[in-house]
Amino acid sequence: MREIKLSNGQTVEVECLSCALTSGMIDPDGGIIMETEHFHAHQDVAYPIVGLVILASKRHITCFDELNEAEKLDYINCLTKIRKALRKVLGIEYVYYFYNEDTTHHFHTWMVPRYEWMYEFGRSVESVRPVLLHARNEMNDGGNLANVILGIDKLKNELNV
Ligand SMILES: [Zn+2]
Repeated sequence: MREIKLSNGQTVEVECLSCALTSGMIDPDGGIIMETEHFHAHQDVAYPIVGLVILASKRHITCFDELNEAEKLDYINCLTKIRKALRKVLGIEYVYYFYNEDTTHHFHTWMVPRYEWMYEFGRSVESVRPVLLHARNEMNDGGNLANVILGIDKLKNELNV
């Protein structure tokens, strides 16, 4: 078991944070953006960037080649639907996708919208860590958090009709 501090200050003891989230043991702030048979989308509001979505598998797997046929199809459909919604309801022009296999949680993909202000942190993938840290440390005010929650609500409305 590992102790994980959630963005709301609460501490939980879990084996795997992705399992805890996708099974409903932990409710993500802002709620579930989208859920299918095999996948679960939410935002980690600890990184308050409007439209940042985390898509996690429900099954505890680590590597891409562990996805079964049904999960593969579900995965690409979820990514596409969320991407489309990001463009339609949030006006997001570009998205960066991150997924690493050596994570302590299980299979999850970060969809990080690319905004103009991010270019001052570097050109491309090099800027992502500084951008996330900047968001976590400097953008954690009430106004921005309200915008993040509003963004989540817009995505939920678009994806759950
Ligand atoms: Zn897990």
